[in-house]
Amino acid sequence: MRIARFTTGDDPRYALVDGEPGSEQLVVLTGDPIYMPVQPTGEQVPLDRDDVRLLAPVIPRSKIIGVGRNYAEHAAELGNEVPAQPLLFLKPNTSVIGPDDPIVLPAWSQEVHHEAELAVVIGKVTRDVSPEKALAQVFGFTVANDVTARDVQRTDGQWARAKGFDSSCPLGPWVVPGLDVDDLGVSARVNGEVRQDGRTSQMIFDVAHLVSYVSEAFTLLPGDVILTGTPAGVGPVVHGDVVEIEVEDIGVLRNPVIRRD
Ligand code: ZN
Repeated sequence: MRIARFTTGDDPRYALVDGEPGSEQLVVLTGDPIYMPVQPTGEQVPLDRDDVRLLAPVIPRSKIIGVGRNYAEHAAELGNEVPAQPLLFLKPNTSVIGPDDPIVLPAWSQEVHHEAELAVVIGKVTRDVSPEKALAQVFGFTVANDVTARDVQRTDGQWARAKGFDSSCPLGPWVVPGLDVDDLGVSARVNGEVRQDGRTSQMIFDVAHLVSYVSEAFTLLPGDVILTGTPAGVGPVVHGDVVEIEVEDIGVLRNPVIRRD
């Protein structure tokens, strides 16, 4: 099952995505499936219709929690040790954009990197959950780009600005519930060229461990998102680039990159 959020010009609506790539149909739902039981309205909309635009499949009501250095080769490529415990940071919900929305390079950074990541969407209020019970709290999974102003990450010390600026959290194209995420491909392409090509099986702390660990610090609310870290191969994006992040069995999240004068 794939659950999308979309607009045809009016208020956002939710839909199940049916059909093969290139001929998908949106089976429109009565409400937001993260927060309420929903039913099909009976309306179907072709995904490729001109007035249809996919939106970020979730806007976190309270927070996005990022996890730094959760793949050993990525930690090494930036000269860092692997952490003994998950290294957490926050991104505000104002950093979220959807498929095809532009990543706007901030004027105060000259080195902005892509980071391909599996994203976990929380489905229930969660606090102090054990790893064994953690996956039952998950609504589903989507694709994220943890866009990072690398130069400012180094000079600020704190990561709030480097990882939290507007448009630094593309999410999409949809949420897939009930997915086995133990060994999925996680990749990034820039202008069609493969930059990152890892697997979730390379994570130092797996999804169940991360949800449990995060829930010992923060009460997780439905719609909160956890970014699970990025494999090796991060690198710069510049004005005019197109970044595609793909997670196997979920889909491709595509965003253009622009710098405003
Ligand atoms: Zn990251």
